[in-house]
Amino acid sequence: MKVRPIDANLFAKSLEIEARSVGVSWVCDRHEAAAIRAAFNVAATKARQFPTLDYAPVVHGEWIEPCINKYGHPCHHCSKCGFKASQKDRNFCPNCGAKMDKEGQ
Ligand SMILES: [Zn+2]
Repeated sequence: MKVRPIDANLFAKSLEIEARSVGVSWVCDRHEAAAIRAAFNVAATKARQFPTLDYAPVVHGEWIEPCINKYGHPCHHCSKCGFKASQKDRNFCPNCGAKMDKEGQ
């Protein structure tokens, strides 16, 4: 199943609103399990119908060294796209946007 990001805070709020709308007479002792199952099914349906957020997952990479660029200077490769950078002090790859925090993990 494909990951579909939603706003968890907004979703929780919608469940709280749903919970407040449940009347006391809706749940009796004999039908408690069925009522709980029904509540979970309502929550699952709401989750499926909740709007999807615009979201791009963070790609983690690291600067791999050393390499020699066409001018004979030392350079570093992005571990994700192979982009050659003259300095590895950037915390992201200017070519693919990978966040350079994988080193040492
Ligand atoms: Zn890159």
